[in-house]
Amino acid sequence: MIIVMSSREPEDIKRVVAKVEELGYQAHLIEGVERTVIGAVGDDRGKMRLQSLESMPGVEQVVPILKPFKLAGRELKQEDTVIEVGPAKFGKDKFAVVAGPCSVESREQIIETANLVKASGAQMLRGGAYKPRTSPYSFQGLEEEGLHLLQEASQITGLPFVTEVMTPEQVPLVEEHADMLQIGARNMQNYGLLKAVGRARRPVFLKRGMMSTINELLMSAEYIMSEGNPNVILCERGIRTFETETRNTLDLSAVPVLKKLTHLPVVVDPSHGTGHWDLVTPMSCAAVACGADGLMLEVHPRPEEAFSDGPQSLKPKRFEQLMEALRPLLAVMGKTM
Ligand code: PEP
Ligand code: MN
Repeated sequence: MIIVMSSREPEDIKRVVAKVEELGYQAHLIEGVERTVIGAVGDDRGKMRLQSLESMPGVEQVVPILKPFKLAGRELKQEDTVIEVGPAKFGKDKFAVVAGPCSVESREQIIETANLVKASGAQMLRGGAYKPRTSPYSFQGLEEEGLHLLQEASQITGLPFVTEVMTPEQVPLVEEHADMLQIGARNMQNYGLLKAVGRARRPVFLKRGMMSTINELLMSAEYIMSEGNPNVILCERGIRTFETETRNTLDLSAVPVLKKLTHLPVVVDPSHGTGHWDLVTPMSCAAVACGADGLMLEVHPRPEEAFSDGPQSLKPKRFEQLMEALRPLLAVMGKTM
């Protein structure tokens, strides 16, 4: 339920929050430009008891949240959320580019790549230390050593970094090192993992599952937020269709649909979305044009030597050209990087 306040008096708000909690619900205070609302989120059964709050001082009305994603939806919070990770700002009129290799392969490789993407204007570094590979015989990542190398590359360049966490047990170690935690497409509905990152103190970069609907993506965000972590960035990374010319089908229509339904930032990953480096620039431009709040891009100094995802990785020069191509488009869209 949404409790719309007519008053902004701290005493009135405190009283309502206490009452919501007394009834066994979580109270989420949202102080918007136009109005202050309190979201009462919890067990759907018995929510009608919250209706009685309408008689409390300072309460204008109590209305139900109709969508199943209560915290992620725009019903409760209309204004766009901006998520800041150091110099990277995602959402509203802010746009950020996250770039780096698919996997951390060596100290030289990650530091070289971090320096290159920084020089071209990226705001954030990416790199997998724990890799979700289709085959158990493929490179699985440098694991903890990879986290240390990412941290070193981050310290040298000043770029914060995001890296994937694959199990709840890995969360404490990864959040100790990384600036943002990535949930990969294959884990989008791993509810134990979603709850674990929901209790973490880092923002979460949630990738859409390759077989998941937009509604399911939002429900996964809801799992994270309902555990107390409000900082979730959604990522469209392509879904599986009958098309075989591309690795996945990058569903760019998901961007405006998500923007309509949620206040959370939406980022596009055209590297995994297409699987081919030469499709990354056109689809990045298209992502900006349809309202994305950022891009995640795979960049490798020598893609032909990459341990994973070489065919979709941009060479540094191409990445630099892409960054230049984005600037006038961002200006048209009223966003700054
Ligand atoms: C990745 O970002 O390297 C990755 C494995 O992506 P996804 O989970 O989207 O496949
Ligand atoms: Mn990859």
